[in-house]
Amino acid sequence: MTNSTILVAETRAEATPTTMWAMQYGGPHITKWAQVPMPVIHDDTDAIVRVDMTTICGSDLHILKGDVPEVTNGRILGHEAVGTVQKIGKGVSTLKVGDRVIVSCITSCATCVYCRQARYGQCINGGGWILGHLIDGTQAQYVRVPFADTSTTAVPQGISDEELLMLSDIVPTGYEIGVLNGQVKPGDVVAVVGAGPVGLSAIMTARLFSPRAIVAIDLDDGRLAQAKKFGADVTINNSTVEPLAAIMAMTDNLGVDVAIEAVGVPATFELATTLVRPCGRVANIGVHGAPVTLHMEKLWGHDVTITMGLVDTSSTPTLLALIAADRLDVSQFATHHFTMDKFEEAYRVFGDAANSGALKVIVTSK
Ligand code: NAD
Ligand code: ZN
Repeated sequence: MTNSTILVAETRAEATPTTMWAMQYGGPHITKWAQVPMPVIHDDTDAIVRVDMTTICGSDLHILKGDVPEVTNGRILGHEAVGTVQKIGKGVSTLKVGDRVIVSCITSCATCVYCRQARYGQCINGGGWILGHLIDGTQAQYVRVPFADTSTTAVPQGISDEELLMLSDIVPTGYEIGVLNGQVKPGDVVAVVGAGPVGLSAIMTARLFSPRAIVAIDLDDGRLAQAKKFGADVTINNSTVEPLAAIMAMTDNLGVDVAIEAVGVPATFELATTLVRPCGRVANIGVHGAPVTLHMEKLWGHDVTITMGLVDTSSTPTLLALIAADRLDVSQFATHHFTMDKFEEAYRVFGDAANSGALKVIVTSK
């Protein structure tokens, strides 16, 4: 080796960054695009993933409202990403540096009693919803992914990054916690309260089961127009129309078979419980930050099933197969594009969906 090549090698080694840019939580209503230390391998099963594409979730807005008090000041937000593996710990066996992966919003140890039942959201070994919640998340140039082998999905050929990004959280959430928990069946009438990206995911995946009708309910006409595109048959703007009367008129005064709540405030949960017919199912998806009233005095005799849950992302392989087979078009979610240095603007646009028309904002590293 000549002297000049040694010099180049040394310069490159020095150039390895020790800091990166990231979107930090700064307390209720405050975000900060800040320079922070690079994540490092902490446990043998960790990987460091370079974030090529990430996005913002309704849950991030709940965090900013102060609804998720476990999120502490300085926490890097975000739990959705498509990226490239940069480093792996000694215990990582299925990933290698350079692999492209979907980072799931749910981290799974794969061995605990819940993970053994594919209930990854309930992982008791340090997994579950931790990214951008209990540990630093994906709204950054790099992210440390614990249990990397079982908390990422290899990127298949032929599906765009934007589509893959929708599998980090929103589409599995609408499908597992809305449609599967609500047991949507052929011929059902399904109401979805809240037509944000998660509610739209529930609408889109409910169609896989041939319901008789899907009714979308939202305060925002723009979101209701989107709901039609995603497969809703009927839309109700509950700022102007009383949804209960409209639903009863459609269902011989019985109510819907399945009411899916995809907002996360007391009023919409209570609304979902009033729309459901006797023997029907209420599937709550929303992240709640306040107690809700359960009207047992009205519901007790109606044999109603109420479910709630944190997504497991166990459906990711099924959803990937459906996208690959052109049975689901998740590309429609991407409405706005930003580079990471414009992250604060991306939050403003996503948080003002009624005016901006945003569904999912795509934030890329370059
Ligand atoms: P979002 O904020 O983009 O959408 C919420 C929608 O609800 C908006 O279209 C809004 O106009 C509508 N809305 C608000 N108040 C309403 C009301 N009173 N009546 C009717 N509609 C109303 O959020 P999103 O990303 O679609 O997420 C939806 C919910 O799902 C959030 O609570 C989010 O935290 C939650 N979530 C849960 C899980 C889980 O695992 N359970 C995972 C991801 C997201
Ligand atoms: Zn586990």
